[in-house]
This record gives sequence, C-alpha cells and structure tokens, in this order.
Amino acid sequence: MKDTLKHKGLRQKLVKVLVDKGITSELVLEAIANIPRHLFMDSSFLDHAYQDKAFPIAADQTISQPYTVAFQTELMQICKGDKVLEIGTGSGYQTAVLCELGAKVYSIERQHELFKITSKFLPKLNYRAKKLVFGDGYKGLPELAPFKSIIVTAGAPFVPKPLLSQLEIGGRLVIPVGDKVQVMTLFVRTGLKQFDKTEFGEFKFVPLLENKN
Ligand code: SAH
Repeated sequence: MKDTLKHKGLRQKLVKVLVDKGITSELVLEAIANIPRHLFMDSSFLDHAYQDKAFPIAADQTISQPYTVAFQTELMQICKGDKVLEIGTGSGYQTAVLCELGAKVYSIERQHELFKITSKFLPKLNYRAKKLVFGDGYKGLPELAPFKSIIVTAGAPFVPKPLLSQLEIGGRLVIPVGDKVQVMTLFVRTGLKQFDKTEFGEFKFVPLLENKN
C-alpha cells in the first residue's frame, strides 16, 4: 500500500483536469488531492488510477469517475460534522472523500463481497465511516435519520421516497435518475412536504438494483 511522490504528482494533474472541467470547491479538490485513489483499485489498473475515468472494481461494479465524484460532492455542500448517508459504498472512494471533508458518514452497499472488502480496507487508510451497512439503499437508514445530505452513487430508475423522507429540513439529496443514462438531480427539502428540484447534466452509472436483499 504505497503512496509515492509520483502518485501525488499524478493527483495534482487530476485536480487540474477537474478544475478545467468546472469543479470549484477548494475543499473537494483538496480531498481528491489527498486520497490515494490507486489503492482503491486492482493493482493492474495503477496506470489508470489518476485519469478522469470510471474503472471496474470487484463484483462487476465500478469506481466512479473522479469528475462525477467531485460534481456530486460539490452539490452536497458538506460542512464539517454533517451527518451524511451514501448509497452504494462500492470501493469506498466516495466514502473517503466524505470523510476527508469531516462528515459523519453512513454508507450502504448491497453486494456482500464489496461490503466486506471495503469495510476492511477503509480503516487501513484511516478513513473511519460512522457505519458501513450491508443492505438495500432503496430503504435508506430510517433508524438513523434525518441526514443533512444523501448521495446516491448508482443510477436510480426513480427517486426512492424513503430517501426524501430521511432528509432533515434544509437537507440535500444528490441522485442520478434514469435508466440508460441518468440526469444528476438535486432535491433540497424546504419543508415537511416541500422539495426544490434542480436538474444538472447527464451522467452514466451502474444501476441501483432493487429487491436483492
Ligand atoms: N461510491 C462508489 C461507487 C460504486 S458503483 C465508489 O466510489 O466506488 C455503485 C455501487 O452501488 C455498487 O457498489 C453497487 O453494488 C451499489 N448498489 C447498487 N444497488 C444498490 C442498492 N440498492 N443498495 C445499496 N448499494 C447498491
């Protein structure tokens, strides 16, 4: 588990690419500059780790493209100490970004293999989520709600109602919605039953799968 000067240099280049693509949050860019993304991927992908691309991980899943991670994280507007929920732990890279920003992170993964690998791996890098959960993200975590923000890192065919209802007032849900391609969508809870919805560009995610647990 090495992180060398070469890796750090490659990360600085990646940060420049993200700035060129429109990412402005210094805190998000700093998180990306700090996290050894190459360690979240199979070693054969070492050369690719700092390109702005998604890559395969275990269980037929992918580690999201850095731009996508940065874009979604920016929309969450995290402040230190925020209680946040992530749906789709995957490699744990996005979880690490949220930890770097000082959030109290809860994250759900439905693939047992990934849940096990990532639960062991993140503490090795000193990223300590409040709780990693093996379960179905469509349900959220009602017993731990409300959350300041919720991020969904898989393509949702529709917006799961439990996720909206688990936001605190003023809270933000960032979710890519759609089947083949997804529209990045932000919901801000403005009242008990009121939500402001804003749509951003199109992205491509692996699907948020239903009824598998
Ligand atoms: N945040 C991850 C992205 C992984 S891809 C990262 O940074 O690497 C999306 C993840 O969502 C996959 O690991 C997939 O297994 C998981 N997923 C799909 N459907 C899910 C569901 N219903 N509940 C929880 N996780 C789910």
